[in-house]
Amino acid sequence: MITEMTIYLDSAATTRPGDTCIAAMTQTMQQTYGNPSSLYKMGLDAQLCVEHARKQIAAALGCDASALTFTSGATESNHLAIRGAAGAYGKRKRRVVTTTVEHASVRGAFEMLEEQGFEVVRIAPDADGVLRAETFANAVDDQTCIASMMLVNNEIGTVLPVREAFGRIKREHPQTVTHCDAVQGFLKLSFTPEKLHADLLTVSGHKVHACKGIGALYHKKGIRLTALMKGGEQERGLRPGTESVPLIAGFGAAVAELRDNLSDRTAYISRLYTECRRMLNELPDVTINSPADGSPYILSFSVKGLRSETMLHFLSEKGISVSSGSACAKGKQSGVLQQFGIKQDLADSTLRVSFCMENTEADMIALVDALREAQARLVHRR
Ligand code: PMP
Repeated sequence: MITEMTIYLDSAATTRPGDTCIAAMTQTMQQTYGNPSSLYKMGLDAQLCVEHARKQIAAALGCDASALTFTSGATESNHLAIRGAAGAYGKRKRRVVTTTVEHASVRGAFEMLEEQGFEVVRIAPDADGVLRAETFANAVDDQTCIASMMLVNNEIGTVLPVREAFGRIKREHPQTVTHCDAVQGFLKLSFTPEKLHADLLTVSGHKVHACKGIGALYHKKGIRLTALMKGGEQERGLRPGTESVPLIAGFGAAVAELRDNLSDRTAYISRLYTECRRMLNELPDVTINSPADGSPYILSFSVKGLRSETMLHFLSEKGISVSSGSACAKGKQSGVLQQFGIKQDLADSTLRVSFCMENTEADMIALVDALREAQARLVHRR
């Protein structure tokens, strides 16, 4: 049920599929519903839709279309990258390097490698909350088969030094495969996998106004990966299973729509972000957790004396959707905030708001007004 007033401030969790995405999906469902592997015209047309979308996404990533594999989303892309590279290169090289602030899907993939006997090195931010490229790169040695670092943290918006770290790794240990979970940076920051020195790079559809259940993995030519499943020859055998043509077509259309206006969008979102930060700073007992130089799409803050769930439900009653940390954790803390140096009591009182082009300044005002009311009604001052 949609309540009367709906203010959606949780675009890091997911976004509303855009009209062009929905139109492209509808078109393929109604007309191009053949199996892309079938050899008659309707199958070939479906295959053309898939390849068209691949080109649209490749254009946004600044890579060759042949470097992209469609998956069911970033969780699968991350697993295919990490476990797939470990499968191909990890027979003798048994060390893998990651960070302590990754998304649950990356953490999960490394836990699975640990169970297989890999030595997993997890690099944490320093006491000042900054994860240093040098510390990460220093952890990589000749025995390291894969190094993985996310581009933008999904809980507080910190931009990690991927380019610097991977640049050094590729100079000093060119045989180590580099992987970047770029989900929260895709179409928000200007990058290409090549500029980041990433051999493998993950993106997801539903964070960029496409549907849930579709993602892609960029995969540099020459890098070997072991598929997670065996089956048909779809996606060059790397990702068997009949392609979801509607999801793929919708993903391509959504990306094409966002591709060309990055700087205008950045300017608009940065204005909203700055305004929201300024207004929150005017409230008593509010601490901003996001670094000043983080992504303007994600703003994390804590309200002393109010627990995340209490605030979340209070805001929800008012039709305002925000998150306590990462939506995937269903309210359970991941420990990532603490890794960034946020003390436990503040972590317990954290909210994450995240933006898209549909948000306005009026949304920021409504949020801050509602928080002010929550403080007046719910904080028990001694
Ligand atoms: N990585 C990051 C950084 C994310 O924010 C998310 C989504 N919360 C994922 C991976 C997982 O994406 P998906 O839902 O497409 O599996």
